[in-house]
Amino acid sequence: MEIVFATNNKNKLRELQEMLAGGCIKVLGLADIGCHEDIVEDADTIEGNAVIKARYVKDHYGYDCFADDTGLMIDALGGAPGVYSARYAGEDCNSEHNIDKVLRLMDGKTDRRARFVTVIALCTGSDIVTFEGEVAGRILTERRGTDGFGYDSIFEPEGGGGLTFAEMTHEQKNAISHRGRAVKKLVDYLLP
Ligand code: IMP
Repeated sequence: MEIVFATNNKNKLRELQEMLAGGCIKVLGLADIGCHEDIVEDADTIEGNAVIKARYVKDHYGYDCFADDTGLMIDALGGAPGVYSARYAGEDCNSEHNIDKVLRLMDGKTDRRARFVTVIALCTGSDIVTFEGEVAGRILTERRGTDGFGYDSIFEPEGGGGLTFAEMTHEQKNAISHRGRAVKKLVDYLLP
């Protein structure tokens, strides 16, 4: 059985290929099926964007497909950046700009609670199934750690021994992360 993971991220793709290697499922990326267009993610929820991507591949390329979408929800910012996590500081911004904006808006706030949420949407035929993974934690007042990406250096997850995601190995992060938890649910579903 072949299934597409709607991503161009080689690390995410390899991780899923390894996790599903035990079964008879071959995981392909967007490049493998010749899909090079930008899929417009214009939903106002994380789940909506994951569904758009999975449905797009099924409708245009015919493959069963799953897609993920992630957001960082910060309580003191009313749940922002949420679905806008990738472009919080503007369309042409990078992760460092996004972090700078969060640190600026969180300056002086005592409520530091936040959580990462990942939704994976699986589209087979006309059916869509979704899997959600979440991790609670807190936003630091400054960066700590050099690994990882996105907001990793300012997020200290619960159950992480006081480390930020950017201070953890991939294995440590995957074991407790939002994405790791959602992926585990997907794998359990596909390889019962
Ligand atoms: P995506 O849906 O996986 O592309 O994630 C959207 C945005 O959320 C990314 O551009 C990152 O800024 C942020 N993000 C997603 N996953 C993580 C993570 O594991 N750590 C830190 N930031 C993340």
